[in-house]
Amino acid sequence: MSEFDAIFVGAGHNSLACAAHLALKGWKTGIFERSPTIGGAVQTREFTLPGFRHDFGAMNLSLFAGSAFHRKYANELKAQGLEFAPVADCFASAFPDGRWFGVSNDLEKTATRMAAFSAADATTWRRLVAAFPGEAEHLFRLLGSPMSARALAGTAWNLWRKKGMSGALDTGRLLLSSPRAWLEENFESPHIRATLATWGMHLDFAPDIAGGAVFPYLESMANQSFGMVLGKGGADTIIRALSGMVTAAGGKIVTGAEVAEITVSAGKATGVRLASGETHTATRAVIAGVAPKALTGKLLPNGSGDAGFDTAMQKFRHAPGTMMIHLALDDLPDWRAGSELRQFAYVHLSPSLDAMSRTYQQAMAGMLPDEPVLVVGQPTAIDPSRAPEGKHVLWVQVRMLPAEITGDAAGRIAPARWDQVKDNYADRVLDIIETYAPGLRNKILGQAVFSPIDLERENPNLVGGDQVCGSHHLAQNFLFRPAHGYAGWNTPVGNLHLTGAATWPGAGTGAASGYMLAQQLGGR
Ligand SMILES: Cc1cc2nc3c(=O)[nH]c(=O)nc-3n(C[C@H](O)[C@H](O)[C@H](O)COP(=O)(O)OP(=O)(O)OC[C@H]3O[C@@H](n4cnc5c(N)ncnc54)[C@H](O)[C@@H]3O)c2cc1C
Repeated sequence: MSEFDAIFVGAGHNSLACAAHLALKGWKTGIFERSPTIGGAVQTREFTLPGFRHDFGAMNLSLFAGSAFHRKYANELKAQGLEFAPVADCFASAFPDGRWFGVSNDLEKTATRMAAFSAADATTWRRLVAAFPGEAEHLFRLLGSPMSARALAGTAWNLWRKKGMSGALDTGRLLLSSPRAWLEENFESPHIRATLATWGMHLDFAPDIAGGAVFPYLESMANQSFGMVLGKGGADTIIRALSGMVTAAGGKIVTGAEVAEITVSAGKATGVRLASGETHTATRAVIAGVAPKALTGKLLPNGSGDAGFDTAMQKFRHAPGTMMIHLALDDLPDWRAGSELRQFAYVHLSPSLDAMSRTYQQAMAGMLPDEPVLVVGQPTAIDPSRAPEGKHVLWVQVRMLPAEITGDAAGRIAPARWDQVKDNYADRVLDIIETYAPGLRNKILGQAVFSPIDLERENPNLVGGDQVCGSHHLAQNFLFRPAHGYAGWNTPVGNLHLTGAATWPGAGTGAASGYMLAQQLGGR
């Protein structure tokens, strides 16, 4: 048995960032991770063949690069080996009619491409990009602040002071809008609308869901203004750097150590019991980087003592699932729409707003989508060090999928468990890519498929393959993440805190949940 000031359940990047800050403040920190490797959804492993390094989950590290944690600890992270691979050609869409559109960090390039679809849209794009710094200030402040009345009042006051009542209402309206509403108000080309709307599908915002417009807006404007960032050698560069910071500051990280129970005495968390039976005590905090259902359903066998909180955690809603297909390739895909697509970090295959809406609806109804949204990541186009010389990896994210299959919208795959279905479904995905990039199959040297259930097996926070650990719809975001009254990473149990993607400000690699909690506990 060891005694710590703070014990962390799980070694996701939020927990690591929180632990690093606290350890540097002199706290004795211990992190217990059930998997043999740390990083949770941010890992890079050789899933296919030796020398081919695949990002298990997150590939785009722009949120981490732009985070408050990175701003504060850039030198320490760099000293621990953090290295980014900057991206100029960020994302593109290829369309069934053979056309493509892409956003590069060079405004002239993007605007010229856009003008080929619509001159009016290109003018709008330039206007939105010019106005972005004024809008970003408020949106990033909101997303980077705790969900407290004081912080919200400060953000609202600043917004009103800088933009006036009418401008402030415009920002509020953007936050409430659906992707379709924002896109149809601003752009006339269906190709441009579809290209931007796909960013909503990275979360669980199909085109018609309120509150989703801000994600396509922020991602496209930020990519245009700052480019994108991948990890040099793999996304796990942030995990190696964070864990290096923790251990350099005296923290302890233990892998293969599943936490079976958070121990509680007199209404306060006192430590953890591992599945092995080992116990460890925490004198100041237990910080659980887990999915809400696991907190009250598993780790607190007697509940939290507050029935309302326990019910809210059990009713926490997850988003549809994801399948990941990792390919080791002889060469990048030969995109029919144009060879320039080979240089983009992401190529989206999601033809229209209506197709995205239909896919989402199919997944919500338990059906295998006939035409899932595909996010084809080409990390070795940016960072060749992830594969042997001249070879490539492809990171294919399949959105959106049901956790439990009740049918197939294409009528070809009989409903069964994912383990029985995943190879057939991966074939459907490769067939779709082949229509946009003929000959892809001939380039495949190795393949690894993770169904939504495989994702959850790797990391139980990805419930049903939900890559964002909980729906981000308005009723479960902001003050309601993970539940009303608990957006401040608190729980009804004294000294017990929740961190990670299920908590404010949600999923992504920005480490914001962990870092804001760390500052709350240990000071700035
Ligand atoms: C396929 C996929 C693609 C993504 N792409 C991107 C992207 O490109 N860019 C981006 O910004 N974000 C992306 N995301 C989202 C982002 O990666 C996650 O939101 C983020 O990494 C979650 O971090 P976290 O700190 O909440 O913990 P997680 O990464 O979820 O880690 C939690 C850890 O806790 C461990 N754990 C759970 N229970 C226990 C227990 N009882 N005992 C011990 N350990 C336990 C788990 O094993 C895991 O290691 C993606 C996610 C996925 C899955």
